[in-house]
Amino acid sequence: MKKSIAVLGSTGSIGVQSLDVAEKSGYEVKALTANRDFRKLEEQIRKFKPECAALSDVAAAAELRLRVKDTSTKVYSGIEGVTYCAEKTDADTVIDSIVGLAGLSPALAVLESGKTLALANKEALVAGGHLVLDAAKKTGKVILPVDSEHSAIFQCLQGKPSNKALKKIILTASGGPFFGRTREELKNVTAADALKHPNWDMGAKITIDSASMFNKGLELIEAHFLFGVAPENIDVLVHRESIIHSLIEYDDNSVIAQLGLPDMRIPIQYALTYPERYPSPVGELKLSEIGRLTFFEPDYEVFDCLGICREAIIKGGLYPAAVNSANEEANRLFREGKIGFLDLGRLIRTAFSVTPDKPDFTLEDVYETDKAARQAVLAAV
Ligand code: MN
Repeated sequence: MKKSIAVLGSTGSIGVQSLDVAEKSGYEVKALTANRDFRKLEEQIRKFKPECAALSDVAAAAELRLRVKDTSTKVYSGIEGVTYCAEKTDADTVIDSIVGLAGLSPALAVLESGKTLALANKEALVAGGHLVLDAAKKTGKVILPVDSEHSAIFQCLQGKPSNKALKKIILTASGGPFFGRTREELKNVTAADALKHPNWDMGAKITIDSASMFNKGLELIEAHFLFGVAPENIDVLVHRESIIHSLIEYDDNSVIAQLGLPDMRIPIQYALTYPERYPSPVGELKLSEIGRLTFFEPDYEVFDCLGICREAIIKGGLYPAAVNSANEEANRLFREGKIGFLDLGRLIRTAFSVTPDKPDFTLEDVYETDKAARQAVLAAV
């Protein structure tokens, strides 16, 4: 039988690349959802003919419904519509590539309905933590990581020994466009400067997160939950060329790495074909042409967001959710030119003081924390 998929966040960078992989692999596409880009979603509906589609923006969904009424695709609206598609579709694998905390409730819906979740949205696991892990455990499904670093670790772990010999995870980071700069030099940088990412072509929010290294902080938290490794055993290593996508270290100090060209279609395809592998449209890695690979310790003083995330995961409970929401707000303010680059860390840190100590939280607690953290940021601008 033909494999079928659903893509949540289908008009974004990862969504578009997922559909590219689906098309080349001949997968059936059963559901597509997005935030508000009805034009792009209409194009995708006409091409892939899904059973259902949704836009979380209600007005955009109404427009889309009119535009595709000659097709057999049913259009839903609002976050409920997105979550409904995630839950009701009978696709084998659902890719969650929604940006931000909005990806959490659809991720839970996918897991609770017993389908395989390919997770590109890192905020779901960062903010949802044990809620997401518990939902996965109930149906016994592995969460398939789509993020390049986590896919790399997941690939390195294939065939791992049954004893607990995994000592360390080494997450690689490109260092972003501001690598090597001092705080003084970052005072007046703008969102446009930050959007010039050296290696990866990504959406605007994640590109800013990458410039501030908050993205690597989110990935550290995500790695902790996905692989059950304590935060102190997760190192971050700056690797400018983005060829080694991450590494693991065993007790015998043997280190295993996954390498490839920086192209998201490799981790996306692996999540969709796991445990099998097939030819990919991505080019071969020719190390002799790359010549050399370089490595540096991250600068925790300049990139304070990285340390904030480390602190949040050590504190546990709702703290990762709080710093994530604070960052969503601060990231937006920076993109709108309302705050400076160096304000990011200062503003995100305000979330700590409004977060309750609650290791065993509920989904409602996450949303309350979200509100409080955003308010704390706005109050401190
Ligand atoms: Mn990544």
